[in-house]
Amino acid sequence: MRVLFAAPARLWDAWSPALRAACPEMELCRQGDPACFDALIYAPGYPEDGRVLDFTPFTRARVVQSLWAGVERIVTNPTLTQPLCRMVDPGLAQGMVEYCTGWALRAHLGMDRFAQDGVWRNQLTPPLAQRRGVTVLGMGELGRAVALALAGLGFRVAGWSQSGRPVPGIEVLAGDALPQALNRAEILVCLLPDTGGTRNLLDAARLSLLPPGATIINAGRGSLIDEAALLAALDQGLGHAVLDVFRQEPLPPEHPFWTHPQVTVTPHVSAETRPESAAHVVAENLRRAMRGAPLLHLVDRARGY
Ligand code: NAP
Repeated sequence: MRVLFAAPARLWDAWSPALRAACPEMELCRQGDPACFDALIYAPGYPEDGRVLDFTPFTRARVVQSLWAGVERIVTNPTLTQPLCRMVDPGLAQGMVEYCTGWALRAHLGMDRFAQDGVWRNQLTPPLAQRRGVTVLGMGELGRAVALALAGLGFRVAGWSQSGRPVPGIEVLAGDALPQALNRAEILVCLLPDTGGTRNLLDAARLSLLPPGATIINAGRGSLIDEAALLAALDQGLGHAVLDVFRQEPLPPEHPFWTHPQVTVTPHVSAETRPESAAHVVAENLRRAMRGAPLLHLVDRARGY
């Protein structure tokens, strides 16, 4: 099987050994006649000259496997007629669990109040997690893992998703119940994809439904939050925002988020796709494509995720 590595060149050194080890029968190429490739392994930023990738000449390709979980930069490409699969990988989920539980605990424990400034603030004992309402927006592969981890620490966790599909041990609210999901969220974790239905979901009206002093952790996509509304809400009682994703990345140096005392910026590092585990996911899907078996983690084009 001949596979095109349709990803930025900087990823080659990390990915090619892991992919070849996981799938020794694959001939992994960086270029060649498009009509010769059985599959593409794709990451955003390809091609690197800024052109939009034209999938039309890849007439033999049976699958386009994304290395990233979020596929908003490819799913609307009108030339893409081949099946598109997104990345679902245990390493990615574990990274997201660690990131979200870490920042949730920081908010919950009020760690920043105990600065080393010589003041003995022993009246500030934090409540136990059982008294803290946490809502996770997006109960997919990542949201579910984060919700279960936070529930395991004792937090009062609820989830919210389009379908409200049940998750054992977690109350999952559906579509119209967003106001209830926000009302109870002293800590709000956002793990939604970027689609027409989620863009600017957290606007001024919805941000005003959060309890005073609430913390938002956004590791989904920057487009979920209206930035001007967020800055205004932080002035009006919202506690803190931990932001890993932005409308423009890298976040421009002059952006007010960098210096805002109630904003923590992290540079899109919450969860990386790690070649050592993800290469096996890619290999499995390539093999399925070659033998005509059902593909894993197929993107629904109409829904956009
Ligand atoms: P997923 O498995 O596709 O789950 C998406 C979840 O969002 C589902 O629960 C889905 O609801 C829900 N959803 C989608 N549109 C909705 C809407 N309009 N209203 C309500 N709920 C909606 O995705 P995932 O693997 O968990 O990843 C989620 C996102 O995380 C990715 O798309 C990506 O943008 C982001 N991400 C960020 C990083 C990072 O480093 N910061 C890393 C990886 C991924 P249903 O369950 O009803 O379908």
